[in-house]
Amino acid sequence: MAVTKRFIRIAMSGAFGALLAFPVLAQNVKVTPLGGIEGEFCPQDRALIFEDPNGTRVLYDPGRTVAGAQDPRLGKIDIILVSHMHGDHVGNAHNKAPNSGTCESPDTSVSAVPNTSAVEIALAKGSKIVTGSEMPAFFAAKLKAGGGNPANSMLARFGGSVTVNGIRIATVTAMHSNGVDPDYIGGDLGKMMKEAGIAGDVGLATGYVLKFTNGLVAYLSGDTGITADQEFVVRDHYGAKLAVMNIGDGFTTGPVEAAYVINELVKPVSVIVSHANEVGTVQGKVRPNSKTEAFMKLSKVRTYVPLSGKTMEFDNAGNCAAGC
Ligand SMILES: [Zn+2]
Repeated sequence: MAVTKRFIRIAMSGAFGALLAFPVLAQNVKVTPLGGIEGEFCPQDRALIFEDPNGTRVLYDPGRTVAGAQDPRLGKIDIILVSHMHGDHVGNAHNKAPNSGTCESPDTSVSAVPNTSAVEIALAKGSKIVTGSEMPAFFAAKLKAGGGNPANSMLARFGGSVTVNGIRIATVTAMHSNGVDPDYIGGDLGKMMKEAGIAGDVGLATGYVLKFTNGLVAYLSGDTGITADQEFVVRDHYGAKLAVMNIGDGFTTGPVEAAYVINELVKPVSVIVSHANEVGTVQGKVRPNSKTEAFMKLSKVRTYVPLSGKTMEFDNAGNCAAGC
């Protein structure tokens, strides 16, 4: 008996040693920007695809640079995130085709009202739309009207989370506004609202915190000002290691405020610049005297520019492992 046990112990340690001898397969999250012009960072760029190591693909804020549901860059989309209802995030119009127009002046002449580009993509791909506040009811109604499944619109309101395909999704504070443009409402009500200059109410704008199956925690700021939650919730509670930070100024934090958020509040390992509302790069290089350059100079953490179509990979600790 003792001999058998000893034999098993030796056999097991041998198997374990053999396992260690093989290289550990990379368990990285892939991040691919779907911007206005291949290889550049352009004014309208919002959309990012996050691909979990398990193959699940998440589209964040399709905006106007994804050329509708037919955009071949999309591939399969399991989950769509919409930080808030403004047209440059949910997609009130979109590119005719990928890379149409110029970086400064993209051809976003295809209207997506009253459906939104997010809903059109969800209907075509069978994606779940995960939002906070009172946005899920809006998306459920649009999915239903388009012949889709309203149950594909899922709620993740502040404080809780929902797990889809192994990815934990939570919404967090974004100090911004979140009016629904009457163009999505239509009819007499939409017309009257437009004339009165008021928007529909679907609650607060949001940011997101995602936890991927490799353990990486990512903060997607959405449009926001500076908020204490970036320290107390995003850093202290969730421990975000990768941040996607909006730096556009005027509508959101500008480069100076965004750098304060990153350096003093969130303190991630890596940050991806977003929503600069400018031509951020020329031939793939950061444009001198741009907001993007100003933020990169102020940021104390590793800072990456989302060049359309260029995939970056991040490990569980928020380090860029490839493509940066
Ligand atoms: Zn906005």
